[in-house]
Amino acid sequence: MIIAKTVREVREQVAEWRREGLSVGLVPTMGYLHEGHASLVDRARAMCDRVVASDFVNPTQFAPNEDLEAYPRDFEHDCNLLEEHGCDMVFYPSVEEMYVPNAATYVEIQDEMPKQLCGKTRPIHFRGVCTVVSKLFNIVQPDRAFFGQKDAQQLAVIRRMVRELSYGIEIVGCPIVRESDGLAKSSRNTYLSPEERTAALVLSKAVFRGEELVGSGVVDAKRVVDEMTALISAEPLARIDYVSAVDGVTMQPVEVITDGTLVAMAVYIGKTRLIDNFIAGGLK
Ligand code: AMP
Repeated sequence: MIIAKTVREVREQVAEWRREGLSVGLVPTMGYLHEGHASLVDRARAMCDRVVASDFVNPTQFAPNEDLEAYPRDFEHDCNLLEEHGCDMVFYPSVEEMYVPNAATYVEIQDEMPKQLCGKTRPIHFRGVCTVVSKLFNIVQPDRAFFGQKDAQQLAVIRRMVRELSYGIEIVGCPIVRESDGLAKSSRNTYLSPEERTAALVLSKAVFRGEELVGSGVVDAKRVVDEMTALISAEPLARIDYVSAVDGVTMQPVEVITDGTLVAMAVYIGKTRLIDNFIAGGLK
């Protein structure tokens, strides 16, 4: 596997693959990789001739009070996992390589959509995500890019950015990978104490309960959200940021659950903010 630390190395390698007529898939990540990330690489491997993963903790998507410094990192482990899953190149830039000094150009969806759900507590988050992903798209120029449903609002935001900025890139959404007890895999799970790790199961329990209700024919969004909220509230270590049923494209709240409705949550377990969700009728 090629380890590229500069934009130039990535461009030269991708140009060579292009000359050979090969298709290129991109898997953007912030590192500290787990089986959730690996599933994206596997999907890219199956759909593209060459797979590029990026491994970059993007400072512009963290607010000053968030966990940028504490964010877990282990590049050697990441390389091993990527190589095992057949990744051809990892892009591992420094902050200086990605952002020129005093960079002030951002990509931002100026609409309600990125202000919903996670955008309420993280107002600059999706501007940072759109900016870094559009930079990665410009650097790698992939045919396809792979994102997890775990970050469902991010997936919707990226799909919209791609449409509105005319990127000729196919966005492939991939299902949530979970631990055997249900907890959605996340680099942030490493912050949890053993006690919090047990408490964190309320997120997936609420997701499964919500899915069960919708599967049994309940379409009243309030009823589903209320039951999920009650289940989470019963856990003393949990503090709800939001539990919401929204349109899967616009992120606007809905009253009636239909195919494509996103039922999403963010919950603090101690100091750690975790997210989880399900999409009625499954991910399309
Ligand atoms: P991150 O490194 O957390 O920024 O995540 C990089 C990509 O991996 C994003 O597209 C995430 O949605 C995806 N991802 C993270 N965790 C999971 C998971 N448990 N299952 C599926 N995809 C995931």
